[in-house]
Amino acid sequence: MRAWAVIAPQQPLQEVEWLTPEPTGKQVLLEVTHAGVCHSDIHIWEGQYDLGSRGVMKLSDRGVKLPLAMGHEIVGRVLKWGPEAEGQGLAVGQTRIVFPWVGCGTCARCTSENDNMCVTGRALGVFQNGGYATHVIAPEPRHLIDPGDLDHALAATYACSGVTVYSAINKVMPMPADQPIVLVGAGGLGLQAITILRAMGHKRIVSVDVSAEKLAAAREAGASDTLDASLPDVSKRLMELCGGPVEAIIDLVNGSTTSRFCFDALIKGGKLIQVGLFGGEMALPLPIMAQKALTIRGSYVGNPKELRALVSLAQGGKVAGIPITREPLRNADSALQRLRAGKVTGRIVLTAEGM
Ligand SMILES: [Zn+2]
Ligand SMILES: [Zn+2]
Repeated sequence: MRAWAVIAPQQPLQEVEWLTPEPTGKQVLLEVTHAGVCHSDIHIWEGQYDLGSRGVMKLSDRGVKLPLAMGHEIVGRVLKWGPEAEGQGLAVGQTRIVFPWVGCGTCARCTSENDNMCVTGRALGVFQNGGYATHVIAPEPRHLIDPGDLDHALAATYACSGVTVYSAINKVMPMPADQPIVLVGAGGLGLQAITILRAMGHKRIVSVDVSAEKLAAAREAGASDTLDASLPDVSKRLMELCGGPVEAIIDLVNGSTTSRFCFDALIKGGKLIQVGLFGGEMALPLPIMAQKALTIRGSYVGNPKELRALVSLAQGGKVAGIPITREPLRNADSALQRLRAGKVTGRIVLTAEGM
C-alpha cells in the first residue's frame, strides 16, 4: 500500500510504501476511495494544541505515534476481512463510510456504540493509520456504514464534520423551529451544521463569522441571519439580532474570544456547546453560571448511531451538499497547507482517482 504520511511534526507529508495489512479478528480491510481533509489534521500535523495559560498539549504525550497516515473522513471499498467478521453482511466491493472515532473495542462505552467516549481513543487517522493512503483497516464491521444514495465525497465528510455537528445539534434539541440557534464559525463545520438544521426543519439559523466571504456562503447554505464578528460588541449585537439573550449556541470555533461573547449572550437556562479546537481558555464568572443555570458542554465528534442517523436523514438529497473540491490523494500535503492558510471554502476531499 501507499500512504501520504506525517513523518515528523510540521514537516511535509511524505509518500511512503508500506506492507498492506492483513485483517485479523473482526477487522475489515478497505481500499480508500475518498478521504476528506479536516482542520483537526492541522493540529495532528503540528503535534500540539494550545491550552492557553496551561501551555500546550503535545499529541505525542497522548499516544500519537509517527509515522502516521492521517485522514479520518474515509469512504472505501471492502476488500477482505478477518475470520470473526464472517457472516456480518460483508461483500467484496461494497462502498462504505468508515466510522473513525473508535476506541478499545471492549469497554462498556465501546460495546454500547459510544466508541467516541472510550477513554482509550484509537481513532483512525489519529492513533492509527487513516485515509491518506490507498488502504485502511476498520476495526469492526459495525464501523462501516452504507452511504446509500449519497455522493461518496460528501459521505466521507459526514464521518467527521457531519457527525460532529449532528451530535452537537442533538445536544440543544428539541427546539421550536423559529427559535434562534446560533452557530459560531461558517467554515466546513458551520456550513454543514446549517444544511443539517435545514433538513431537520429548523428555520432560525444565525451564523457568526469574521469573514464576509464565509458569511455569504452561510447565507447561501440557508442561514436565516448572519453576524460579522470582526466588529466590536459581538454579544450585544448577537442578542439584538436574536431578539434577546440566546437559548442555544454551538461554538464551532471555540477560542478565547468566541467563548467569551457566546457566554455573555446566553439567556437563563441557555446552553453553550463547545465543539471547535481553536484553542485558548475561558474565565467564568461563577455566580452567573449558577444564577442563570447555564450549561456549558463540550461535544467531541459523535457515535456510530448518530452517523447512521445522519446518513439516513440525508438520503434523497435532503441535506444540501457543501462545496467540495476533489483532488488526487497525492495532493494531501498541498491540500493540508491550503487549509492551514485559510484558503479553503467548504472541503477538499482527496480521491483515489488519478492518484
Ligand atoms: Zn475531522
Ligand atoms: Zn472502549
